[in-house]
Order: sequence, then C-alpha cells, then structure tokens
Amino acid sequence: MIYLVEDEANIRELVVYTLQSTGLEARGFADGAGFRQALREQMPDLVLLDIMLPGEDGLAILKQLRASGSTARLPVMMLTAKGTEYDKVLGLDSGADDYLPKPFGMMELVARVKSLLRRAGPVAGTEEYKTGGLFVSVPRHIVTVNGAEVALTRKEFDLLAFLLKNAGLVLTRDRILSAVWEYDFEGETRTVDTHILTLRGKLGACGNLIQTVRGLGYKIGELK
Ligand code: CA
Repeated sequence: MIYLVEDEANIRELVVYTLQSTGLEARGFADGAGFRQALREQMPDLVLLDIMLPGEDGLAILKQLRASGSTARLPVMMLTAKGTEYDKVLGLDSGADDYLPKPFGMMELVARVKSLLRRAGPVAGTEEYKTGGLFVSVPRHIVTVNGAEVALTRKEFDLLAFLLKNAGLVLTRDRILSAVWEYDFEGETRTVDTHILTLRGKLGACGNLIQTVRGLGYKIGELK
C-alpha cells in the first residue's frame, strides 16, 4: 500500500491511478490530517509526500513520521517543486529516502517507487500482519476487519498475534497456552478453545482464517 499526500487534485488522482494500474495499491490524501487518520488504519509500505501543502507541510509530516517508532523507518519519497534545490536538500536532510522533482513523468514515478520499495524490502520486525481482510498491528495494538476496527481483550489479541506470527504452522493447545498465558496450565486447554471461539466471532468475516486442525490444535494459513 502506498500513501500519497498531495493537495493538487489532478496530480493526486493521476498518481493514484497510475500506481493502481501497475498493480500497486495506493490511496491519496489532500492533507496531513486525512493521511494521519489512514495511518491509524493501515501502515503503508511507502509514502509519497508533497512539500507544499495547506496547513502542515510535507517536511513537518516527515519529521513526525521519523519521530514515531512505528513509522521511523517507513520509506518516504518527497515530491518537490521544480528547480527548488532548497526543497531537495531540506527533504534529504530531514530523513527522506528519495525525492522526485516536479513535474515528473508517470513512468519515472513508477520506476522510482518500485526501486525504493525494493531497497526498503519487507519492513522487518514491525509485527504487522495482513491477510484476507484482516490487518493486525502489534505495536499499535490495532485489529481491523475490512477496515473496521475490532475490539479484542488482551488475551484475544495476544492469541491472534501468536497465530499470525506462526502463520502456516499448526499450534497445539499446550503450545498456545504456554506462549499466550505464559505458564503451564495443565489440563486447562479448553481455555484456548473458548478464546478461539470468541475470537472467531469478533473477527466476523475473517473468523474462518483461524482453522481447527482436528486432534492437533489451530492454525492460520500462510499470509497472502
Ligand atoms: Ca502542493
């Protein structure tokens, strides 16, 4: 997912359309407020930031991204006005990963975005998971199903995060108990079953991502 913050509607629509037409997911925002709201719902893989924006400018947004743990290493490309070396230097000094001077061609934009995504690689250690319509951010303690936030208890959340972390593996009830409840709970493996049951219910459309493996335990399939 790529987020674009750009106040000029025609540029914003063109960039989003172009990225989507190359198979990349993208969303555009006219200002920092809409962008920040979206950040709480889903962490993007890359951010395209215009510098001159109404209200809070792109450099202020970048500074805040870099100051926050969950977004500190988020790849950011600044979109700068033509010929403004000042913006260029400032953009790089402030921690941008790349910059693209305006006006830019769409082919160049796509090439630079793909290059930056490759350089950045998968965001390691952020403990964020996305599969089907489910999104879970462990550091931000957020679960959404098809974009709508789901309220889970602490144990339900830990259980879901443990299943996601081990996606593709079958986890026995004993293993889940010792990992999530952090102590051996001999003979009380039904605790796991009851939590799985309520978790599935709360996840609604995504509840069936948690599979029962008869005679063994539970698993979530490989993340797609
Ligand atoms: Ca602008």
